[in-house]
Amino acid sequence: MKPSINVCLVKMMCKELFKRAEEIIERLEQAGFAGYIVGGAVRDTLLHRKIGDMDIATDAKPEEVQALFPKVVPTGIQHGTVLVRHHGLSFELTTFRTESGYSDFRRPDQVRFVTELQTDLSRRDFTINAIAMDRFQTIIDPFGGQTDMQRRLVRTVGNPADRFQEDPLRMMRAIRFQAQLGFAIAENTMTAMRAHAHLIRHIAVERLAIEWEKMMTGDYFSHAKEGLLQSGLLRYLPVFTDNQPLHRLFATVDQPFTGWANWIAYMDIACPNSSVTDWVREWKLSNQVKKDSKLLVHLYQSFQHEPIEWTVYQLPNALMDDFLQLLTRLGFSDLTAKDIASYQEQLPIKIRQEMAVDGKDLQQFFPNRPRGAWLREQLEVLEKAIVLQEIVNDYDTIREWLKHGN
Ligand code: ATP
Ligand code: MG
Repeated sequence: MKPSINVCLVKMMCKELFKRAEEIIERLEQAGFAGYIVGGAVRDTLLHRKIGDMDIATDAKPEEVQALFPKVVPTGIQHGTVLVRHHGLSFELTTFRTESGYSDFRRPDQVRFVTELQTDLSRRDFTINAIAMDRFQTIIDPFGGQTDMQRRLVRTVGNPADRFQEDPLRMMRAIRFQAQLGFAIAENTMTAMRAHAHLIRHIAVERLAIEWEKMMTGDYFSHAKEGLLQSGLLRYLPVFTDNQPLHRLFATVDQPFTGWANWIAYMDIACPNSSVTDWVREWKLSNQVKKDSKLLVHLYQSFQHEPIEWTVYQLPNALMDDFLQLLTRLGFSDLTAKDIASYQEQLPIKIRQEMAVDGKDLQQFFPNRPRGAWLREQLEVLEKAIVLQEIVNDYDTIREWLKHGN
């Protein structure tokens, strides 16, 4: 079967990734195995989108893959997946999942390969994700994935009710593909989602969080919002359960988010019933997300109540985009990255370490005071006074300033 959509253009962009994948498949074939590019890489190539990771399905077992390639990381060996490193790139090789398990045959016939590949594809979630490509770029599309792409539809492979009962996470994945691709959810698939939405409660929150982040950062976030409301999934998700104010707020949001920290900070500020702590605890998010969300909330409060120089000084470069987006979403769209850069340039110091005095100096200035919280507090007062140019960043000046009771 020839590809019905021209894949050449994007393939050029991802030439290196495909070339290396083809080498891996060739090596598998030389050893008597089969290999196909599957999943997101095929979908995104056909849709002329940037490729994330490259998945290869093979009939070689993980140990056989390990024996064939020099650099193999056993990332998910119990699920039949290993990571092959090849020319500095990573490839996930997953053994075909078939009903009957595997025989040890070394040179199975072509028909057997195709049967196994079809079975493997039939277990995949959506038709657009159930397309394979061999190393000559021939497309194998037994479930009409390309037709659904043309119709811009997310549709389960097989009976949606069965597929969602097998793995309810697929409902959340349908929503995230809506957000990333701007597709609609096929009618039969949406009907089954409505009927089975409650099953999402059984899914480990860590798995949900991965899909939720991909959803909130998707270009077509507003499509996903409609999907979440229509399917009824929202009310079964952590923090949303029994939280009407949050539902109301969610219904008003249309623009995608830069990531978890941005999402949480906005929800914390705009909805009294959802704090940073709630989100991080209920979605089991990392300490980094917690730290960034708290800092964003703090920066927003600083922006509202303090001179802009102080806010800009406290803003790390890594959170610049998140902060600007947060401000825009909260109705302050005047401040641009350029403005912030120019404020930053004019700051007398960029970091605390550039202060002309440190904690030890403070102790020397006040030798009779015991160590304690005053030290940190005094340093903070000093830091702010320097940043706001109320005092010059000079050792003697600071000593005098402090001694005169500031
Ligand atoms: P991305 O570009 O975000 O990686 P992806 O489609 O490759 O998108 P993955 O989570 O990497 O998503 O999964 C790879 C492939 O595995 C999918 O395209 C799909 O074929 C299959 N798959 C993943 N999760 C499921 C699931 N829960 N049920 C059935 N098939 C799944
Ligand atoms: Mg993938």
